[in-house]
Amino acid sequence: MKDFAYIAAVSIPDAIEVFGRHPDAMYLAGGTTVVDLLREGVFRPDSVVDISALPLREIRIDGDSTRIGAMVSNADVAWNPGIRKMFPVLSEAILAGASGQIRNMASTGGNLLQRTRCPYYRDLTAPCNRRSPGSGCAAFAGFNRSHAILGGSPQCIATHPSDFAVALTALDAQVHTSGPEGERDIPITDFYLKPGDTPDRETVLRPGELIAAVLLPHAASRGRSLYLKVRDRQSYEFALASAAIAADVDGGILRNVRVALGGVGTVPWRSRAAEAVLEGQLGTPLLFSAAADAELAAARPQRHNAFKVALAKRTLVTALQRLVETS
Ligand code: SF4
Repeated sequence: MKDFAYIAAVSIPDAIEVFGRHPDAMYLAGGTTVVDLLREGVFRPDSVVDISALPLREIRIDGDSTRIGAMVSNADVAWNPGIRKMFPVLSEAILAGASGQIRNMASTGGNLLQRTRCPYYRDLTAPCNRRSPGSGCAAFAGFNRSHAILGGSPQCIATHPSDFAVALTALDAQVHTSGPEGERDIPITDFYLKPGDTPDRETVLRPGELIAAVLLPHAASRGRSLYLKVRDRQSYEFALASAAIAADVDGGILRNVRVALGGVGTVPWRSRAAEAVLEGQLGTPLLFSAAADAELAAARPQRHNAFKVALAKRTLVTALQRLVETS
């Protein structure tokens, strides 16, 4: 592991200011991703800015929105009574991921910024455009069973790993940031970048900008929401396919439908094509299949992951059936 300077920030301006002197610095929150990648030599910063002491540990439920501080642990979000009541999809998504120990340490902001589980990203002997731009991508000719079928590019087909971000995508969440140029509220659908020609740029965050909170509009809490995740084993495993759904269901008619898929996209995959098929319609198995077909029409599977196309469709159809049956 490369040596680095450790800096413990005591305020947000204090943390941001470090980047003026150390542009190569990186933030450390819960440490469940960053410490691994420092140890493995994937991250090689000169300075690490620890933001775990910043006053960002509050969940505040106000009139028309809920604010989750960036340092609130995943466990505290999942078990918060207000979150469980208003946004069950969020609680279910968190509890479907990682382990109890990791959820106690992992932060809200860190979960959004966790890195791909593509094995070649962590293997310093393999070419990887995301880790080392211009070096190539070992996944195309390698073992690509877990990789993305939506949103890939010739440079990278790594799957986004976060269940939490998929649920937030179905809830029209915003990411509140602080940085050298001030504060921003970024819709989560604009926060992540598909790999394109620059897979090393994963989000729209600017140098020194940190996530301060996640904002959830209460309009997204109407109706019913749920998360369904399919994986190789029932715990401590990433999604092969998952679906986050929120909708108002009245007499079987679906309105304000929001759908996001996980485990299949290079970013948390907002599923506008499926939503367009579902909106205002009577929920039936035929309609659900048509919505899944519409969304997965753009899928581009690789040698080992063609099964994900059918799996994602079945996951979405099953999630929609459960949503209607329990509304
Ligand atoms: Fe790297 Fe992306 Fe290729 Fe994986 S898929 S090896 S992360 S460039």
